[in-house]
Parts: sequence; structure tokens; C-alpha cells
Amino acid sequence: MKDHREIANPSHTREILARHGFTFKKSLGQNFLTEPNILRKIVQTADITEKVNVIEVGPGIGALTEHLAQHANQVLAFEIDDRLIPVLADTLQAYPNVTIKHQDVLQADLVGITKEVFKENLPIKVVANLPYYITTPIMMHFLESNLVVDEMVVMMQKEVADRISAAPGSKAYGSLSIAVQYYMEASLAFIVPKTVFVPQPNVDSAILKLTRRAQPAVAVDDEKAFFKLTKAAFLLRRKTLWNNLLNYYGKDEATKTWLTQALQTVGIDPKRRGETLSLQEFADLSNQLVRTNR
Ligand code: SAM
Repeated sequence: MKDHREIANPSHTREILARHGFTFKKSLGQNFLTEPNILRKIVQTADITEKVNVIEVGPGIGALTEHLAQHANQVLAFEIDDRLIPVLADTLQAYPNVTIKHQDVLQADLVGITKEVFKENLPIKVVANLPYYITTPIMMHFLESNLVVDEMVVMMQKEVADRISAAPGSKAYGSLSIAVQYYMEASLAFIVPKTVFVPQPNVDSAILKLTRRAQPAVAVDDEKAFFKLTKAAFLLRRKTLWNNLLNYYGKDEATKTWLTQALQTVGIDPKRRGETLSLQEFADLSNQLVRTNR
């Protein structure tokens, strides 16, 4: 008999878990959503329609996947846990537009797989309740891949969402904010209390909405050098920009002169801290360093 209840319904989730004898693996960041209203809100925030293809990371038992499949053209979901593959085959059998890839998303060739799976060339959105232990690597894997993702609506620990969406000058602003905001416009969509998950995580979560910029936020001559500089500037948060730059690039006289001149040319006081520099200032400094041959 067909079961018309949503997967995310708490009693249905318990039944599915019991039927398959599933036990959670903390090491895989398994906290499953059991609140259908939150899932509806996520799909609305991501504005999922039949004109969109979706990539999901970590479908779990398919709670979010089901909602995505009801609105999207196709859904491609990466799940690393082999025990969940037969569960998903069971819970998502009514949705022929879902493809599950049994794979570590960090190892996935995103361009190749999407070409193989998506039948129509539609805008791609990433929608996921991320495994928290690898939130940052997953974000970077998508951003640094050559896959054009129009939007990401992703759940993560609130503290990480705050860091990603932080503005210059705020405590949470750092190299992660810059790495993401370089490619995407970031805004915090809403907070999700820890009580809507099984098992409950220790902290609250947030849904972050990231929209791809038509072009990167700032013009840089050498992206690698730019990201290296932004990492260097935040090595030790309580140190000045000058100290962090010396620690990273070297303390010899030639390096000091090179750094002093570059900072002077772009008008940045070396006594400032990394977190006070805007993306534009980092870009100006990076371009100046690159142009003066380092
Ligand atoms: N989407 C489900 C939900 O909202 O109820 C489950 C989300 S749970 C926070 C994270 C999921 O990511 C788990 O199913 C876990 O097995 C999976 N996962 C963990 N590491 C992964 C990886 N490297 N690649 C793909 N999936 C992964």
C-alpha cells in the first residue's frame, strides 16, 4: 500500500529508521530533519520550480530530497553512507526524477556527473542540510569547481553561517567570509532550532542563501595569490596585518621593503587588523604585491 505521509514526519521517520535497522553515525554528521514546515521553508527560500535542477549533499533518508523532487525538474543527491542507499531506494521510489550517487561529494567530478545526470540544461541550485563536520570543504568544493551553480541554500551550524555572511569589521569576518563572498552574495535566511533534528545537535543551525555574482566581487589579477593573502592576514586574529604578513611572507629586509611599499601604494595602514580590510582593499593589496613580483 502506498504511504502518503511525508518522510520528515517524526513518527514516519522513526518507522523508516526501525524498518531498516538504521543507527546514526556521528562521524558522518548525521542529524536528520523531522519538521516538514522547515523543509517547505527551505524549498521556498531556494525558489525551486520545474525550471531548476537541484544538487543535494547528504540526503539521509530522503526528508529534504522528497520536497525537492516535488518541485524541481531533477534532483541529484550525493550520499556517502552505503547503509542509506537501500533506504533511499525504498523511501524515494515514487520519485523518478531523483538520482542518488553513492559517493563522497568531495571526490565528485561535479561537472562530469551533472552533465551525465541532468537531461535539460537548466539553472542548477544546491540545496542541502550539510554534514557539519565538512561544511567548509563542501562549500569550497562547489565554489572552486567549474560547475556554474546559480544559488546555494544550505543549512549549517549558525556560527559558520555567521562567519560566511559576516561584513568587514565584525568579529566573525575572516578568510572564509572572503572566499565565499568573492563568488557569491551571502545572506542569512533563517535560524533552525536544534530541536527539529534526530539526533539533536549541540547547537542551533541556520539556512544561508548564496546567490552567484555575475562576476567576482572584486577584480584580482591572480586568484591564488589573493586567497593566500586573505588567509595570511587572519593567521593570528589578535595580531596586526603587518605581523601576520611578516609571519607568512618572511621577515627579511627585502620582504619588509616589498610589503611596506605595497601597503603604502594602496593606502593601507600596516597597523590595522585583517578583519578591518574590505574585499576591495584585499584585492588592491594582492594586485599590488603580484605586480611588484612576488
Ligand atoms: N538531508 C538529510 C536531512 O536533512 O534529514 C540528512 C542530512 S545529515 C545532516 C548529512 C548527510 O550527509 C548524512 O546523510 C550523511 O551520511 C551525509 N554525508 C556525510 N558526509 C558526506 C560526504 N562526504 N559526501 C556525501 N554525503 C555525506
